[in-house]
Amino acid sequence: MNTEASRCLLCKIPKCSQACPVHTPVPECMALYREGKLEEAGRILFENNPLSAVTSQVCDWKQFCLGHCVLNIKQVPVRWYEIEQEISGAYLLSGASLERKSTVLEGRRIALVGAGPVGIAAAVWLYQAGADVSLYDANPRLGGVLRYGIPEFRLAKKWCDAYEKLIADAGIAFHGGVQVGRDVKLSALSASFDAVLLGAGAEVPARLGIPGEERAVQALPFLKNPEAFELGRKVIVVGGGNVAMDACRTAVRQGCETWVYYRKTYENMPANPAEVIEARADGVQFKVFQAPVQVQEGGVVFRDCENVQPEDGGRVVTRIIDGTDHFVACDTLLVAISEKPDFGFLAGTGAVMDQWGWPVLNEGQQVEGLTNVWVAGDFCSGPRTVVEAVASARIAVDSILARL
Ligand SMILES: Cc1cc2nc3c(=O)[nH]c(=O)nc-3n(C[C@H](O)[C@H](O)[C@H](O)COP(=O)(O)OP(=O)(O)OC[C@H]3O[C@@H](n4cnc5c(N)ncnc54)[C@H](O)[C@@H]3O)c2cc1C
Repeated sequence: MNTEASRCLLCKIPKCSQACPVHTPVPECMALYREGKLEEAGRILFENNPLSAVTSQVCDWKQFCLGHCVLNIKQVPVRWYEIEQEISGAYLLSGASLERKSTVLEGRRIALVGAGPVGIAAAVWLYQAGADVSLYDANPRLGGVLRYGIPEFRLAKKWCDAYEKLIADAGIAFHGGVQVGRDVKLSALSASFDAVLLGAGAEVPARLGIPGEERAVQALPFLKNPEAFELGRKVIVVGGGNVAMDACRTAVRQGCETWVYYRKTYENMPANPAEVIEARADGVQFKVFQAPVQVQEGGVVFRDCENVQPEDGGRVVTRIIDGTDHFVACDTLLVAISEKPDFGFLAGTGAVMDQWGWPVLNEGQQVEGLTNVWVAGDFCSGPRTVVEAVASARIAVDSILARL
């Protein structure tokens, strides 16, 4: 990677860092890398973004660092993410440990609900600030989507294991298998802790709302435990996001003839474009401008769609074309169209909700109506990305620090 690192111009105003949701200090760490000071670079990256070892693997780099490298103008951009993988991977796996860095929150007890990227990042920063941190998660093990969603072939479980060890070695209490709302009430946590941060993700799958939907399989539970599902020979995945790509790539690995049906076109797919390319390389086949209208025994009825440019020049809309119904045989329909957070455990707590059923937030992502509850990550924004979850956790943690 040294040749790649030597191409970096170490810009004074680094566009790569500016475009990154956590503003990774690329030039500073690149310079350290060139000098062979990998551990120092690893520590800086970890303090800025404790999930650096993961985001460097799963980010859509074209959207963030790579896509904003100044060398895009005339040459090939610098693949900083590969250098970051090397630095941060080595830092985490070579036995990184957490240290108290200040006593600002000494004697303060903080509960984190959700041990995904938000919970991990917040646990690191709050522990470093001196707090007594407890992590709660409905799943038995730490990692959130990193462990229970993204498949092993894209992100090895060893990374979650390393975070689990880091957290355990620091003495941070991890309460796995505890579902807030069912096993412990939010009001109880709020009463016994100085602050509660909810990073409970977005796990409720959106419904297609079509007849026969009960015959379909939701992609998230499938990804959580693929071996538990008997998919049959031919599988159709509906959706065009990261979840759809992971679902189709997992199905194809189970030996299924796998298709992705998407209601818009390739450019509209929210998935990382690299993921779509990988899915094709795996043998997944795609059909665009297709909307499912009914799930039947042995297959799905689809209707053709088209993109229409409104006359006023507004945003392109996708229109379903009547009279184009056609039956496509398959053994399993996997649904991966979207997810939203489950705000059920906020009910009856005094949290103020808006007209769409989302919590109203004050500055710093504190929940309106509750004195000491904050939200972050997908639980606050809906499904986004790991790096955005970390950036969101930073906002909430800074607000907690300011408050306490
Ligand atoms: C299949 C899939 C693939 C993805 N691929 C990518 C990718 O390639 N790149 C990328 O950047 N992003 C990707 N994402 C998105 C990314 O993983 C999320 O944006 C990120 O994990 C959000 O972090 P979080 O901490 O907010 O939530 P999560 O990771 O969802 O963690 C939330 C945790 O809260 C726990 N929880 C929920 N409710 C309760 C409760 N009541 N009590 C206790 N615990 C609870 C859950 O068990 C879970 O462990 C993907 C998402 C999915 C689903």
